[in-house]
Amino acid sequence: MTETLDHHIGGRRVPGESGRVGQVFNPSTGEVARHVRLGGSAEVDAAVRAAQEALPAWQATPPAARARIMFRYRALLEEHAGEIAELISREHGKTLDDARGSLIRGWEVVEFACGIPHLLKGEHSRDVGAGIDTWSLIQPLGVCAGITPFNFPAMIPLWMFPLAVTCGNTFLLKPSERDPSCPLRLVELFEEAGGPPGVVNVVNGDKAAVQAILAHPDIEAVSFVGSTPVARAVYAGAAEHGKRVQALGGAKNHLVVMPDADLDKAADALLGAAYGSAGERCMAVSVAVPVGDVADPLRDRLADRVRTLKIGPYNDPAAEMGPIVTRDSLKRIESLVAKGIEEGAELVVDGRGLKLQGYEDGFYMGGCLFDRVTPDMTIYREEIFGPVLSTVRAESYADALQLVRDNPYGNGVSVFTRDGAAARDFAERSNIGMVGINIPIPVPVAYHTFGGWKNSFFGASNTHGMEGIRFYTRIKTVTSRWPTSGESRPEFVIPTHR
Ligand code: NAD
Repeated sequence: MTETLDHHIGGRRVPGESGRVGQVFNPSTGEVARHVRLGGSAEVDAAVRAAQEALPAWQATPPAARARIMFRYRALLEEHAGEIAELISREHGKTLDDARGSLIRGWEVVEFACGIPHLLKGEHSRDVGAGIDTWSLIQPLGVCAGITPFNFPAMIPLWMFPLAVTCGNTFLLKPSERDPSCPLRLVELFEEAGGPPGVVNVVNGDKAAVQAILAHPDIEAVSFVGSTPVARAVYAGAAEHGKRVQALGGAKNHLVVMPDADLDKAADALLGAAYGSAGERCMAVSVAVPVGDVADPLRDRLADRVRTLKIGPYNDPAAEMGPIVTRDSLKRIESLVAKGIEEGAELVVDGRGLKLQGYEDGFYMGGCLFDRVTPDMTIYREEIFGPVLSTVRAESYADALQLVRDNPYGNGVSVFTRDGAAARDFAERSNIGMVGINIPIPVPVAYHTFGGWKNSFFGASNTHGMEGIRFYTRIKTVTSRWPTSGESRPEFVIPTHR
C-alpha cells in the first residue's frame, strides 16, 4: 500500500469528496511511489470557503506582522532545506544539489516579501488643489489562486503565495499532480511559521480542479505557470470569468555564440543550460545559434562532453543530470528526436535508450545534440522540454537576431560575445522578456521582474519584484478636503487649475 496525499484546506489535511486519485512516480526507479487525490469543484469550493473565512482577520493583520511570519518562514525553509530538496528530487528526478538551488531561488521571493511594509507604501500628494490632498491606498484583491507546473515544485509556488499573502490576500494553490509532496510541505511550514489556517490552502488535482478555479465566482485572480497551450486556455478562461490573470507559458530559448566569443565558456554555458535538470526548465537553452565560423569548433567542444554527461538517480552525488519526470514524457522526447532525424537534422549525439544498471525501470535518457537544424523542423518549432540541444547555424549576427525575433516564444535568450556594442544592440532589439549577456540562464533575482513575451506570457503583470506586488493588489486613489468654514456653492464645471 502506498501513501495517498490529501488536500490541505483550512489548516488540515482532508481527503475531499472526488474519489479520483493519480499516480506519483519516483522517476529514478520508475516505481509508483505514492498516490495523490485529484480534486474538483467540491474541493475548490471548500478551499475558497476556508480562504474567505481567513480573509477578514488576515487583512486586518498589519503588514509588518505579516512580514514577521515571512521572516520565520524563511528561517524554516532553510532549516528544512535538505528535507525539501529530497521531496522535490524523489518525485521530479532532478539532482539534490539542483533541487536545493531551486529552493533557494524560491526563498529569495520570501525574503523580498519580508519588505512588504515598505512595498505597500503608496503615493501622497499634498495640495493638488487649494486645501486638497490625494493619496493612494494599495489594497489586496481577496482570494487568489495559483496553478503550478511539475518542473519547480518549490520555486514556483514560492513565486506566488508569499507575495500574494503578504499583500493581504488569501490563497488556493493547485500544484502539479506529478510532484505534489513538496508544495504540501511548503504550506505546512508556512503554518508552522505562524501563518493562520486557511490563509494558504492546497487542492491537488488536474484539469478538473483548474476548470473549477477558473469558474469560481469568489476567486479574484489566477497566477498560472505551465505549457503554452494551457497558459493560453487559462488566460482566456480566467478573463471570461472576470478574473485578473498572469499566465506564464512554455519557451524555446536561444543562445547566440558570436564569432568573438570565448568558445570554451560558451560551450560550458550551453552544457549546463541545455542539460541541467534534464532540460526540464522553462529557462533551459534548447537552441544554440553559432554565428559564422564558430559552428564547427563549438560542435567539437560540445559533442564529447554531451557523450560523457554523468546521468544517475537523483541522490547520486556524481550525477550531472537525473531522469525524465515520467515515462510518457520520456517517450514524447524520444519520438521528437526521431522526428528530427526524419526531417533531416543531423543527430551528432544520440542519448536515447539509456539503461542504468540497478535502475533499469527508471526514466533515463542521455543528452542529445543536433546540428544543422532549420526553423521549419518540428524539433525547432516545438518545445521539447528534455535534454536535447538543437544547433541552428547563422551566417551573420543579423541572421541570428532575426531568428530570435521570428521565434513565437519569448521567455529567455542569451548572447555570448566580447563586443559590447553587439551585446547592447542585442539586448535592445531582441523581443524576449529576459536577456542574458554572457549569462546562459538569465533568471532575474526576486526583486526584478521575471517573465516572457510573445507565446511565453499571457496577461499584463509578470511575476516577482514590483510587478508581483502590482498583480496581487489594486490601487484606490483618495482625494480629500477638510473645509474649515466659509461659503459653499455647487460647482457645475469640471474643476481645473488656472
Ligand atoms: P502543464 O501545462 O502540463 O501543467 C501546468 C499546470 O496546469 C499543472 O498544474 C497541471 O495540472 C495543469 N494542467 C495540465 N493540463 C491542463 C489542461 N488541459 N487544462 C487545465 N489545466 C491543466 O505544464 P508542465 O508539464 O507541468 O510544466 C512544463 C511546462 O511549463 C513547460 O512548457 C515549461 O516551459 C513551462 N514552464 C514555464 C515557466 C515560465 O516561467 N514561463 C516556468 C516553468 C515551467
